[in-house]
Amino acid sequence: MMKGTSASAGIGIGKAAIVEETELVIKKETISDAAAEKERFRAALNQAMEETDALAKDLATRVGEKEAEILNGHLMLLSDPMLTGEIENTIAGENACSEYAIENVCNMYADMFASMGDELMQQRATDMRDIKTRMQKILLGVSSVDIASLPAGSIIVAKDLTPSMTAGINPDNVCGIVTELGGKTSHSAILARALEIPAVVAVEGFINNVKDGDTVVLDGSEGIVFVNPEETVTAEYETKRTAYLKEKKELDQYIGKPTVTKDGVTIELVANIGKPEDVDKVLQYDAEGIGLFRTEFLFMDRNSMPTEDEQFEAYQKVAIAMNGKPVIIRTLDIGGDKEIPYMGLKKDENPFLGYRAIRFCLDRREDVYRPQLRALLRASAFGNIKIMVPMVTCLEEFREAKAMIEEVKAELDLKGIAYKKDIQVGIMVETAAASLMADAFAKEVDFFSIGTNDLTQYTMSVDRGNDKVSYLYSPLNPAVLRSIRHIIQCGRKEGIMVGMCGEAASDPLMIPLLLAFGLNEFSMSASAVLNARKLITGYSIAELQAIADKAMSFVTTKEVEAYMRELQ
Ligand code: PEP
Ligand code: MG
Repeated sequence: MMKGTSASAGIGIGKAAIVEETELVIKKETISDAAAEKERFRAALNQAMEETDALAKDLATRVGEKEAEILNGHLMLLSDPMLTGEIENTIAGENACSEYAIENVCNMYADMFASMGDELMQQRATDMRDIKTRMQKILLGVSSVDIASLPAGSIIVAKDLTPSMTAGINPDNVCGIVTELGGKTSHSAILARALEIPAVVAVEGFINNVKDGDTVVLDGSEGIVFVNPEETVTAEYETKRTAYLKEKKELDQYIGKPTVTKDGVTIELVANIGKPEDVDKVLQYDAEGIGLFRTEFLFMDRNSMPTEDEQFEAYQKVAIAMNGKPVIIRTLDIGGDKEIPYMGLKKDENPFLGYRAIRFCLDRREDVYRPQLRALLRASAFGNIKIMVPMVTCLEEFREAKAMIEEVKAELDLKGIAYKKDIQVGIMVETAAASLMADAFAKEVDFFSIGTNDLTQYTMSVDRGNDKVSYLYSPLNPAVLRSIRHIIQCGRKEGIMVGMCGEAASDPLMIPLLLAFGLNEFSMSASAVLNARKLITGYSIAELQAIADKAMSFVTTKEVEAYMRELQ
């Protein structure tokens, strides 16, 4: 048995199909006619763009717009004049062949992205290498691996799966994916989830342990993989697979049902999104609104900031689609692990403790924050939009953001532009300081949403992306639980809504505790909503009080976790 990272839930049992990209040999050939070589490069570039465009269109119809965007991102890289200009300069300046110039320039960018350390930049590095190989293959006349024609029952095994490889997958033939590289939020993991194919990523050294045609059994929920296991193991996982599929199907019965606990408390069960297209899944899985719209995703995969009008259209689209249901839109949360190259942010020594989110926005009021607030307020005329401020540590930050919102409202009044006059403005409670001052914040803000992803990192002083210290990262740690309980109590005392939009909101071990603490709103990825509704409607909050008291009496994560597991 080998362990990796769970990337897409479900059980896959099938035959290994090792997908290895042909190793391209790139040599520096000297050319005599730079103008002709540039022509050759341009022709390959155009073909690469046409192929990528066709793949993106195919993916958009077969899977979804959101998934096609990855390839649209590739198109954007291919059409970046800085990149193509540098390649042409290398051809002319070094009398080098196109293959070498592409290798040199794309690797330089990919290495730069990779050295930035965070997952998003790692992905950008993968994208850069992907387009590099596509152009070189065209130049060298090498054809790509044909994933689309794999036989039924295949488990794709690869070092890493590039988005363009994943785009060709036919879910009727592929019943699992195992890769040596990648993470939970890498593009291939996102696509696997969208296609609902079980996947385990980051299985170290896997390819050396498997041959084409071997039987592979994988559990995408637990992140484990077996190669040629004993009959009994395969039988065990066949039973698990049947149970998983049955359970998934059974969740459909929760569509259209209210989220009310056994003792009659109504809970708001809403979803997290990153782009307007994500609303399709929100509606499919019957979430009752949007608890977190991470607007920074509108700023990614492009070369310049979205204009006020572009942002307005995106927010308006979501507000209209949600038809009066609450839509909490978070103002730009960049910095930390989310970088946007064209924003000109320097790499901080300690990015998570540095120039990010509201700190950045209050420093870039005129070119960044004001247009976003104006777009948000204008869109608020079309639905139930609420504004949420991220990464707040002190009251002054909230007051300054609020004052800017009031300024923008006055501007819109003068121009006679409509907006929601009583728009609510709340904060993410995700820093230790905001948690400790939650009583004071609760008197000034309209709502809280607890961001456990960051609250856990800041409470435990543990980088949320660092594998080496991940054993310390758990919302079930007693310190984090005390913080969460305190925030909820402070919010409830002042009568404001308290929600949670961090990953902990959909954690089955956390849900009973959050209900007992009095959390009003749970926000999570759309595909987790129905399971959360099933769990919430099965509990009586009154009966959970004693359980929460007992859980809070423990002083280590292990004890809390073991106790909460026992109750499942
Ligand atoms: C959080 O910190 O819990 C959160 C929801 O925000 P993000 O994951 O975008 O930092
Ligand atoms: Mg956060």
